[in-house]
Amino acid sequence: MAESASVPAGAADIPSVDRLLSLPELQPLLALHGRTQVTAALRRQLDQYRAAAIAGKLPAHALGGRALADALGTALATASQPRLRAVFNLTGTVLHTNLGRALLPDSAVREVVQALTTPANLEFDLATGERGERDDLVEDLLCELTGAAAATVVNNNAAAVLLMLNTLAQRREVVVSRGELVEIGGAFRIPDIMQRAGARLVEIGTTNRTHPRDYADAIGPRTALLMKVHCSNYQITGFTCSVGVDKVAALARPHGLPVAVDLGSGTLLDLTRWQLPSETTVRETIAAGADLVTFSGDKLLGGPQAGLIVGRADLIRRIRKNPLKRALRVGKLTLAALEPVLRLYRSPELLADSLPTLRLLTRPAHKLEAQALRLCPLLQPALGDAYLVAAAPMLSQIGSGALPGSQLPSHGLTIAVAEGGRSAGAGRRLQRLEAALRALPRPVIGRVGEQALWLDLRCLEETDEAAFTAQWQALRL
Ligand SMILES: *Cc1c(COP(=O)(O)O)cnc(C)c1O
Repeated sequence: MAESASVPAGAADIPSVDRLLSLPELQPLLALHGRTQVTAALRRQLDQYRAAAIAGKLPAHALGGRALADALGTALATASQPRLRAVFNLTGTVLHTNLGRALLPDSAVREVVQALTTPANLEFDLATGERGERDDLVEDLLCELTGAAAATVVNNNAAAVLLMLNTLAQRREVVVSRGELVEIGGAFRIPDIMQRAGARLVEIGTTNRTHPRDYADAIGPRTALLMKVHCSNYQITGFTCSVGVDKVAALARPHGLPVAVDLGSGTLLDLTRWQLPSETTVRETIAAGADLVTFSGDKLLGGPQAGLIVGRADLIRRIRKNPLKRALRVGKLTLAALEPVLRLYRSPELLADSLPTLRLLTRPAHKLEAQALRLCPLLQPALGDAYLVAAAPMLSQIGSGALPGSQLPSHGLTIAVAEGGRSAGAGRRLQRLEAALRALPRPVIGRVGEQALWLDLRCLEETDEAAFTAQWQALRL
């Protein structure tokens, strides 16, 4: 093209789509993205150019092969970026529901990749050559780890509770203490699930106190189940009283009624051996007399999203026969990930290293402090003199409704506006920093509070540190 770059092009100067597609500079894009996508992107680009040309603002050089290929390449690369992206979770909440909860160990990742790429005996009994049951792949392990007689797996714990209630209590009554009618984030409410399951909720006791006689008085001819729910995300303190699983089971037994416990996070081992807060295990709940226990796969267990139901063999058999089970069942990827995670629990003394969730929860504060001090001088230059980064002690949470009252001593970084303290301008600059961190290639998610941006380092493992600092240089404030 002869025109100089400063001369604007007119709409009539824009060549046809077919002619542009045959430019040699566009051939690599056609090979990479295919003709359909490149043509669509080219049409969008030319629409913009036409509007610019009419306004007299289209530089002639924009229509050159190289410039067009660059513009299209950028647009196509942006469009093919996955929407689900890796982020840095520096919120201080280890099992963050909005950030995908538990991270899988390498052993599970390998099994998932294999299940994705090769046929597997998902429902095929290799011993007999006959049709198998997908639950069989993990049932023995779940029984071994919980002391239960049988087990089944569904999509998540909400599905587990729904299926359990629908199977055992449709058109009948379920007795639950008022102090346990929880709402979990994202619209899981025990009364609503109960209604959708077709069961009638019988509330007993008061918010703060429920006594054994409340259960005894509520049992009648229409009672199907006594249920207990873990107070995952809140605590009732002060003048309180609740009835333990063992006592509820003793009240249910003479009536032949089952007792179900929704444990929520459902830990398989006593966490105090790692100096973590104490939480009743699934095994203890079964031993106390629960006939069924439901819990999540991706909370403290540290596995994939799943809902686990363990307990009496006759009840599990009925649950499996419910047609809803077919609608709520897990896929092979979940089972491929769950089995190796459960297997890790056979070596509890290695678990703090082998299970990412536990590894993160047990990272000692002094190590996090050393990491914070190491990072400060690396991060300050990209912030200029507008912001000040400093190492600071903070408190992490386990998250996902596990042990709501307990926090873990942690360490991290605070980034404050260099001058201006509490002024409105400082608040805006803090928001701008938070947004800039979210705009990084691998977004950094922290939290804003108390005149600073807080980045808790509990979930930034040493292996990720180089990637974290490298992209920090790309920060645009
Ligand atoms: C988290 C939780 C649920 C929901 O579990 P999902 O696996 O998220 O479906 C149900 N009940 C309790 C008590 C919980 O803590």
